[in-house]
Amino acid sequence: MATTNNWSVNDSENLYRVKRWGEGYFEIGENGNLFVTPDPTNTDMRIDFKAVVDEIKEEGIQFPVVVRFHDILRSQVAKLNQTFRATIEEAEYQGQYMGVYPIKVNQMREVVEEIVDAGAPFNYGLEAGSKAELLTVMALNTNTESLTVLNGYKDQEFMRLALLSLKLGRKTLVVIEKFSELVLLVKIAEELGIKPLVGVRSKMTVKGRGKWASSGGERAKFGLTISEIINAARYLEERGMADSLKLLHFHIGSQLTDIRSVKESINEGAMIYSELHKMGFKLEYVDVGGGLGIDYDGSQSTNDSSRNYNMSEYVADIVFGMKQVCDLEKVPHPTLVSESGRAITAHHSCVITQVVGEIKAHGKGIQTEAVADEHVLVSNIRELTEIIDSHNNLQEIFNDASQFKEQALGAFKLRVISLEELAKIETLYWQIMEKVQLKIQTAEFVPEEMQELAYNLSSQYLCNFSVFQSAADTWAIDQLLPVVPLTRMNERPTVNCSLVDITCDSDGKLDQFIGENGISDVLSMHPLKANEDYFIGLFLTGAYQDVMGDMHNLFGRLNEVHIFGHDDDPADFYIEEVVNGSSVEDVLSIMQYHPKSMAQTVKKAIDAHIAKGEMKPREGVKWTDFYENCLKGYTYLKV
Ligand SMILES: *Cc1c(COP(=O)(O)O)cnc(C)c1O
Repeated sequence: MATTNNWSVNDSENLYRVKRWGEGYFEIGENGNLFVTPDPTNTDMRIDFKAVVDEIKEEGIQFPVVVRFHDILRSQVAKLNQTFRATIEEAEYQGQYMGVYPIKVNQMREVVEEIVDAGAPFNYGLEAGSKAELLTVMALNTNTESLTVLNGYKDQEFMRLALLSLKLGRKTLVVIEKFSELVLLVKIAEELGIKPLVGVRSKMTVKGRGKWASSGGERAKFGLTISEIINAARYLEERGMADSLKLLHFHIGSQLTDIRSVKESINEGAMIYSELHKMGFKLEYVDVGGGLGIDYDGSQSTNDSSRNYNMSEYVADIVFGMKQVCDLEKVPHPTLVSESGRAITAHHSCVITQVVGEIKAHGKGIQTEAVADEHVLVSNIRELTEIIDSHNNLQEIFNDASQFKEQALGAFKLRVISLEELAKIETLYWQIMEKVQLKIQTAEFVPEEMQELAYNLSSQYLCNFSVFQSAADTWAIDQLLPVVPLTRMNERPTVNCSLVDITCDSDGKLDQFIGENGISDVLSMHPLKANEDYFIGLFLTGAYQDVMGDMHNLFGRLNEVHIFGHDDDPADFYIEEVVNGSSVEDVLSIMQYHPKSMAQTVKKAIDAHIAKGEMKPREGVKWTDFYENCLKGYTYLKV
């Protein structure tokens, strides 16, 4: 195995945990580059990210770029459906599985179309949570065997659209989130003479653990209490629509970290279903919502960015859990519906960008040689640099250096030392801290105040992207996303750093990474080289992140490259489609500007300079073109 500097790709694997979060799709290759195997049923098809980057460059597409692997989407759809089918067979479960993809997780047309296509053999359907999403789903989910499930708050138009969908032969289930929606639905259904298919969302007593715990429990925003569910059933019965009640729905939150909350919610849901059945309401479907988590940090734990189970265990708990309760209660096994979005989409896309610079913790420092009559504060701190190698009480050195630096600041304010002397003290102080940091790496015990040194001494790698556009959840809810270099993983990464973006916002940074023992505030990366781009990937961005980004600082949507694996191709892939990201004009128009008249205003100013003889006409034309081209250009750094 190739090694550089006593470092192998296995060491990189331990550091970045690619296999742990990669779900069989991502791995580090022998050459130190990141590889993707987009179709696990064809492991000969291995794509080197370096080749992807090279092709993107060749096509003249600017970074940052979103790369979508359509095969991964297809594979996740197949995996979820096949897992349910296999488990249903194994459990001798009498109902079927009819999953739906909730489009809010990623509404990109190409994504939804691919999911619908890959799901066709399984009659995999779609879920909508708003009017705009319903309009989308009506146009895309044309399979009359699959389900259309409608959640979220609804108005008259929404109900009419739902009934139209039903009339067109689509199995359209309207899930009631609050009682008044039922009254509205029944009224419109009676007017139109269409018998609705009704679901009820139950407010569960069990809460999911993790960031979305408030989706469950009695204070949940959505759903009916047990007595409201009974009232709803009776309301339908009184109007001769008892058999319209088809589905029981619950969703206790996204990214469920602990399998116990899945088990508990299935148990609770199965009990409600059984009781309704015994009351004479013969529901056909139980919809267990979303929540199937992703192991973003590769720790397989109940960390917020992880989960302590896998897809098979999740499915087994649903199928076996439902069967057990139904058998005990002697009611038929319902058709199972689930609404996994995150698990279907998270792996399929990533953001690729370059590191464009390094911001060192404490600049370069100045010459510190002793001079005649230097101030005692400078001599004192210099002495520490001389004894540190032989001294064994690091804490004493750390404390003394910190104290001298503090005193120096005070002395400077009182005009006792000069600016240059202060700079010397600062330089020497950081030299000492670098040494302390090196020494404590091998120490058995590190006092608390010294533990922050690694972070304080770490660099910041400046990356050509916006956290607000490409990693919204990292900013909003501290979501951890795996970050890895795409190359050089057979080299020892010697730079500890955090990542900052190019927005003018100090929140525009990533400082939570996969660490050796849990989560770390620094990431080990490779030193930048003068003549070589350093590309990194931000992974598992396909769920939510992809569509929730905003235009902070007017950084717009990214260029997108859609990739299909292809065995016959020498690089095992081809770019099927390029979707251009936002131009400056695009983002300005959204903000109500008129780029054309802006260009005219600037041109007028240039013309005026020409008229005054302050600019040559030839030069003026160049500047005018330049401004106009920038308006048409990409919003990110051109590197
Ligand atoms: C958001 C949402 C989902 C998707 O959940 P995931 O955890 O992403 O699978 C499913 N159902 C409902 C009702 C939702 O609101």
